Amino acid sequence: MTLLARTASPTVRLLPHLISALVVLIWSSASPWDALAQNGREQRWATQPTDHFDIYYQPQQRSHIDAVAREAERVYARISYALRHELAAKMPLILVGEDRDLPRNEGQARALVTASRASERDHLFLSAETFEKRPGSVLAHELTHQFVFELLPQADRDAPWVSEALANHHGGLWDSSELVKVRDAMVHGSVPAVEDLTASDRHWGHAVFDFVAAEYGAQGIRQYLAALRGGLATRSDAIRLAFGVSPRDFNAAFQSYLRTRFADR
Ligand SMILES: [Zn+2]
Repeated sequence: MTLLARTASPTVRLLPHLISALVVLIWSSASPWDALAQNGREQRWATQPTDHFDIYYQPQQRSHIDAVAREAERVYARISYALRHELAAKMPLILVGEDRDLPRNEGQARALVTASRASERDHLFLSAETFEKRPGSVLAHELTHQFVFELLPQADRDAPWVSEALANHHGGLWDSSELVKVRDAMVHGSVPAVEDLTASDRHWGHAVFDFVAAEYGAQGIRQYLAALRGGLATRSDAIRLAFGVSPRDFNAAFQSYLRTRFADR
């Protein structure tokens, strides 16, 4: 009896607090969605924060959100460790349903950012459709671009091929049409020198970073980015500084790697 009497009293006293806490809980779980009318249709968005991302999504994508959050953090950890860099701020990641929902131009991207109420900075866009097919590689690719923006802000001017090349390297997948280009050039002996690569040499850039990782490890990639960031007079100087070899020897080793890795067997 004593025990019952003791427990009954605080329970009753707690009840009003419990009810108000429940009301708050029900209220907040019933409406995590920010509603916004757009094009005559109401779009509802919610946010899932993780350590390094704020993921914006609509109710239809709720079933993907845990897997996307897990994979995004896994990819972030891998790239951040390889490049020894933490992004300056949390990354807004906007999740849509299908590839056709992804923005195709600046205007569409802006409309999606406004609708989702994501913060005003660079964004990652991801479709659940692509995520299901290639969970890690597309996130790794897009996230690498963000790391390059911070590590090599002058990449467009100093080494325009680097951002796409490093993104493809971390994405880890080789497009079959690009493999054909590499093999074709090897057959015809027309592999360009690394210091002459341009923005359109996507496949060569990808191969260069695969080579650097295989030959010098992640540290080699970091040293090369640091050498490029140093604003050296020529890209040949960046090769000498990063790898301690002449561009001629570097290119010879790269070609030898290509023959081993990409020879048509
Ligand atoms: Zn890219």
